[in-house]
Amino acid sequence: MCIFVLRWSRGFRWYRAQFRGIRRPIRHRRPTAPEVTDEPPAGPMAGALVVVAHPDDEILWLAPAVAQAAMIVAALPGHAHEPSITQGRDAVRAAYPVEPFEFLPLASAGVYKCSDWLRRVPIEQGVTLKSDCPVAAASRYRDNYSALVELLDPYVKQYPVVYTHNPWGEYGHEEHVQVSNAVLVLAQRHGCSVWAWDGFPERRLWSEGMRLRTDYFAGRTATLPHRALDVDGPLYRQVRELYIANGAWTWDQGYDPPPVSSYLQLAREGGVLITRRDRPSWARPLGIAAYGALDAARHGTALGPGRPGKEAGCSVGRPSQSLNPRPRHALRRSG
Ligand SMILES: [Zn+2]
Repeated sequence: MCIFVLRWSRGFRWYRAQFRGIRRPIRHRRPTAPEVTDEPPAGPMAGALVVVAHPDDEILWLAPAVAQAAMIVAALPGHAHEPSITQGRDAVRAAYPVEPFEFLPLASAGVYKCSDWLRRVPIEQGVTLKSDCPVAAASRYRDNYSALVELLDPYVKQYPVVYTHNPWGEYGHEEHVQVSNAVLVLAQRHGCSVWAWDGFPERRLWSEGMRLRTDYFAGRTATLPHRALDVDGPLYRQVRELYIANGAWTWDQGYDPPPVSSYLQLAREGGVLITRRDRPSWARPLGIAAYGALDAARHGTALGPGRPGKEAGCSVGRPSQSLNPRPRHALRRSG
């Protein structure tokens, strides 16, 4: 009982830290769906498959699953522009503390911020891209989706439970959305169950100009089955240091995931549980107008539109720094 209270307390403190910088406290609706109880005796993640877009995503968003996974797959390990990062990822894989960790023979399309974060629409391949997105990058993005479905198929068919990206790509990354879509398609094909992290908080994303969750999945997650999973802190830090040492860590180096993370069930035995809400046409201009009232610097499109040359796999810079909770001791150190 005491351990439970401690965990809840730590998780609550992390959750509350998400709202630092937001003037008004935000009340979140507590999910009403019951916890899943049909878990195997060995634990909910034992024997699971973990599928992520880029190496380091697995430990950032799916650390509880990594600790017990039967197989980890990074689907797009080749960096679009920085060979040194690709090499660093290979070095990380060779020394990874959890095995097996496999890389698909695919590379990132280099489309980070090539979609209009204000107006983009979810599609089968991920999200719509802007008209000025480089043709070659847009083509690679489309081709990658087909390749992902083909190359991930033999993995997904072997594992009844898969952990992957959420449908809004955690913080909106175009390729995270793409991988999530591919896994859900394969889960339907093979009757698998799919889980994803229930983060970042919806309002927090909205305030930073990342609207995909708000626009298309608002309220849809509250009734999904969910489970709270412990993050293996020592394993997380070990892996993070491994990535950093090899120049392949693409997120804020001070980031620590919540000690207890909530995960949503996106599909159960092949049946997809989450559906997106298509915004009615009359509502989109209103939403865009309301959004325009925010600080322009917070617009997703203003955070670095069309800068594929600056992409570092996931992202490095303002999106990660602004979204990540910082421990109080780190804030004190930085003055
Ligand atoms: Zn990523």
